[in-house]
Amino acid sequence: MRPILTVGSVAFDSVKTPFGEVSRVVAGAATYFSIAASFFTDVRLVGVVGDDFVDEHLAVFAGRRIDLDGLQRVAGETFRWRGEYNFDLNTRETIYTHLNVFEDFRPQIPDSFRSSPFVFLANIHPALQLDVLDQVEAPEFVALDTMNYWIEGTPYELRRVLARVHVLVINDAEARELSGEANLVKAARLIQAMGPERVVIKRGEYGVLMTRDDGFFAVPGLPLEDVYDPTGAGDTFAGGFVGYLAAAPAITDDVVTQAIIAGSTMASFAVEDFGLDRLMALTEPQVKERFREFKRLTHFEAL
Ligand code: AMP
Repeated sequence: MRPILTVGSVAFDSVKTPFGEVSRVVAGAATYFSIAASFFTDVRLVGVVGDDFVDEHLAVFAGRRIDLDGLQRVAGETFRWRGEYNFDLNTRETIYTHLNVFEDFRPQIPDSFRSSPFVFLANIHPALQLDVLDQVEAPEFVALDTMNYWIEGTPYELRRVLARVHVLVINDAEARELSGEANLVKAARLIQAMGPERVVIKRGEYGVLMTRDDGFFAVPGLPLEDVYDPTGAGDTFAGGFVGYLAAAPAITDDVVTQAIIAGSTMASFAVEDFGLDRLMALTEPQVKERFREFKRLTHFEAL
């Protein structure tokens, strides 16, 4: 079992969906990732919060396998984001992004984190992602997330990061934009040529598509009766995916497909309530049971 270093946003989110609304709840890409991954292995979180992020907010990390030595607290306000979703929850609008203390964030990887064998670079400026890679000692596995903002705004820096990672985890719209190709199969192959050995494309409720040497692996999203808030589903998926890989004795083709199910399992919980609420109440037996549900969902007998 190997620890994972993750660097990304720790935030206060406000979210409105057709089923309700929450205001200023603890969230952020690195938060969703860490909580999900900590079900599988030890996580080392590097990020920044403001002095408005107090002990009651830190409580979401308490009692979990998450080392907060790399979480800086500085004067100012914590990163804030607000999103509103449309009726089918597949599309959302960002109402605001207040970077606040994130604006001057320079990741400082504590000495004790530098030899981390697994690294997850959550969605931040590609220059900062490169800075993190320069501070770690030859990690065995690096996974990367990004978003349209960086694909459009900092394409050259993003290309430099892509050349140094093993896996890119992005959503379908971002894959199309990054590759300039509408067809996702072709898009994935074009992105692979930019560096990552594997490309994992998240497709919301439609599931996940991953490149394999000899083709693709795809799973649907679990058909769920209660979906309240998709925020953080992508980061939660990444936490389950990378967490499972880090906990496995070796990364084989079979293990990578199991990791896709682990990611899909964790994401399926995240959307069942607002913010972190469902993940906070989640237990290991529930994770194992849902893993089995995925097996039943996708299993069929050969002809
Ligand atoms: P997802 O729904 O997987 O795209 O992730 C949503 C999370 O990402 C929220 O908790 C936000 O606080 C965070 N987030 C949104 N925009 C950004 C950004 N520009 N940089 C870093 N984190 C962000």
